[in-house]
Amino acid sequence: MKDVPSIDLRAVTKIFGHAEQAVAAVENVSLAIRNNEFFTLLGPSGCGKTTLLRLIAGFEFPTKGEIFLADKNVGAMPPFKRPINTVFQNYALFPHLSVAENIGFGLKMLGKPQSEITARVSEMLKLVRMEELSKRQISQISGGQQQRVALARALAPRPQVLLLDEPLSALDFKLRKEMQIELKRLQSETGITFIFVTHDQEEALTMSDRIAVMSQGRVLQVGSPREIYDAPANRFVADFIGESNFLQGRVTAASDNRAEVALVAGGNVTATALGARKDQNVTIVLRPEHARLANTNAGQINGKITDIVYFGTDTHFQIALGHGENFTLRQQNKPGFQHSHKIGADVGILIEPGAARVIAD
Ligand code: ATP
Repeated sequence: MKDVPSIDLRAVTKIFGHAEQAVAAVENVSLAIRNNEFFTLLGPSGCGKTTLLRLIAGFEFPTKGEIFLADKNVGAMPPFKRPINTVFQNYALFPHLSVAENIGFGLKMLGKPQSEITARVSEMLKLVRMEELSKRQISQISGGQQQRVALARALAPRPQVLLLDEPLSALDFKLRKEMQIELKRLQSETGITFIFVTHDQEEALTMSDRIAVMSQGRVLQVGSPREIYDAPANRFVADFIGESNFLQGRVTAASDNRAEVALVAGGNVTATALGARKDQNVTIVLRPEHARLANTNAGQINGKITDIVYFGTDTHFQIALGHGENFTLRQQNKPGFQHSHKIGADVGILIEPGAARVIAD
């Protein structure tokens, strides 16, 4: 059987308002989301994540472009006809109904027979581990439990796709971590395609099969968490996902996928680069944990330590380089080992092989 994407967005644009007030919330987005995938839309506030989700759900319609579900163009299909369900940020549960009644609500609306509703509700209660609380009112359960009910209610009609709009943002840190694991389990047990919206890069990295990074209505990069972290497509992605150092330089020699770069801050670095030309001005990106402290002249770059911050799992060193550039270096803390570096000391920075990359601005 040919592998038909679960959701296929083809050059989708959504413009709100007219003339001077027109806002392109989503601009020319093409995405093929696979069956059974945990797919995340990640980006800062206002980048168009919710609009994209609402277009997939059918609460909004594209100004331009097409949306396919399996291999069917869902064009003007209303939301209730799409085999898609949404879990909203505020859960939108019915406070006067019990846990079980909330879970069965959608099935009742679909006109399913009572015997089927009862069986499905009990299956869902088991799936989200809420069997003992089935008769409680929504006002009598905790925020985390309400989240489970919202998930069970959305999963009960067995949608092909579940849309989740920042579903964990109302939970405290510990509960949020627990629900992240719970969501992954639910996705793999049900085999349903999950499309998850978040502005939290750590959440996206730890939960997703693939991530689409968005900015100003556009998708800048799609890839696995590792691809996006290790090989960010441009400066925005490198800056938004994790921490990055950006160093300016000029290419002194280039081959197919490598470049020797003389840094403005002083020193020379070998970097991964596709199609760089000799004498080209470039920006190099380097993660703080991909470099080590060394003696002066023992690394590729020299600098002076301006700050040292202990973070428990690791220590961050701020290093002033030549020409006003700065570098953050992160070193993992080891039991019984105390580094001897001091603020004001001259140091060298040793870059891990393959860590530096030339990046598009
Ligand atoms: P957040 O994380 O803050 O929810 P988001 O990434 O989900 O943001 P959207 O809600 O999709 O972003 O909004 C994208 C852009 O479209 C924003 O500039 C927003 O102001 C605008 N927008 C969204 N809905 C409408 C609307 N109904 N009318 C006019 N402009 C809108």
